[in-house]
Amino acid sequence: MDWHERFPGVSEADWRDWRWQLRHALRTGAELDRLVNLTEAERRGLALGGLRTAVTPYYASLMDPFHPACPVRRQAIPLGQEGEPAAGDRRDPTGEEPHRPVRAVVRKYPDRALLLVTDTCPVYCRHCTRRRITGGEEGAFDRPAVEEGIAWIRDQPGLREVIVSGGDPGVLSDERLESILGPLRAIPHLEVLRLATRAPVVLPMRIDDALVRLLRRHAPLFVITHFNHPKELTPEATEACARLVDGGVPVENQAVLLRGLNSTARLLGDLFTGLLARRVRSLYLHQGDLADGTAHLRTPLAAGVGMLRELRGRVSGLALPHLAVDLPDGSGKVTVAPSYLVGGPGEGFGQAVENGVRGTWLMGHAGAPAFYPEPPQADCACAYDQAWYGGLT
Ligand SMILES: *Cc1c(COP(=O)(O)O)cnc(C)c1O
Repeated sequence: MDWHERFPGVSEADWRDWRWQLRHALRTGAELDRLVNLTEAERRGLALGGLRTAVTPYYASLMDPFHPACPVRRQAIPLGQEGEPAAGDRRDPTGEEPHRPVRAVVRKYPDRALLLVTDTCPVYCRHCTRRRITGGEEGAFDRPAVEEGIAWIRDQPGLREVIVSGGDPGVLSDERLESILGPLRAIPHLEVLRLATRAPVVLPMRIDDALVRLLRRHAPLFVITHFNHPKELTPEATEACARLVDGGVPVENQAVLLRGLNSTARLLGDLFTGLLARRVRSLYLHQGDLADGTAHLRTPLAAGVGMLRELRGRVSGLALPHLAVDLPDGSGKVTVAPSYLVGGPGEGFGQAVENGVRGTWLMGHAGAPAFYPEPPQADCACAYDQAWYGGLT
């Protein structure tokens, strides 16, 4: 169904105005009830009052009014299960709190840090990992808080990269974004910036030419977005990605593996190849974080590994992301991959022997083991290093 039928009386100009979309976000059961046949579980979820609810009219227009398993509905409308605590759920699911030297900064790695610039979003994802912040408990990130973060980053010469996140920085005006990205770009030790925003997915009209020019001015800057299902790859979202890429702003995707939404190899393959055809590379497929009220959306770890095993070899390597697990203890992300190692007990890389040659048995995609022999020499030192680094240090 076309948006004109779902939102009668709305002009084209209003629809294409991202501020109109934010102002008219659907927030209540009564508003959503007019658009979809709410289920009992959705009604209970909407009555909870935990994480905020907001859905841009654009994203709401993608909802299937009759099918409660619609992946857009399931990402945007809470279920009663959000209010049922599950074993393992946490308020701070990836252990960020001990790594906030100032309120707006999360720094877990020597060379990269997050700068949180807002606690609001155009659409509140029901799987949100930072819901302790996007739920509004902590308060907004006003200019002084963000300026304190930027000043802290300025004093850390070990940082090479800053990820501007939130909340969704896509809700900020061009002027506000410039007041954040400009000072960051002026910090000599920062090489790369990332802007984490779901705007291409939930508010594609935000990606206008002025914003693209602004982002391009601060290159190297990568937009990291968050498509989770092929249903989100609409003409509008496609145009938003094309504007960014044509304007010189590379776009990468971080999907979250969500049980019952995108948790089959077929859907993931369609998502990753659909993104690649739009020149968007998939950086991560995230295993669900242990955020409060999200247990019903999490998959067993083995399920995601199995899906990637199915896709490797069947789908372009350019399209395939890493499966990332952000560890609950705050030590950061690790990636898990299917193991192709075949071996008897205790056999690791290069430990098997075949016809007198050491090597490794690896499992091919068709299920047949293949032997990969070790080279005659194992020394990996580079003799040119001294010449290369000698003059630089
Ligand atoms: C994910 C994340 C990063 C970025 O990590 P990459 O491995 O470079 O993608 C940096 N800081 C924090 C706190 C993160 O959660």
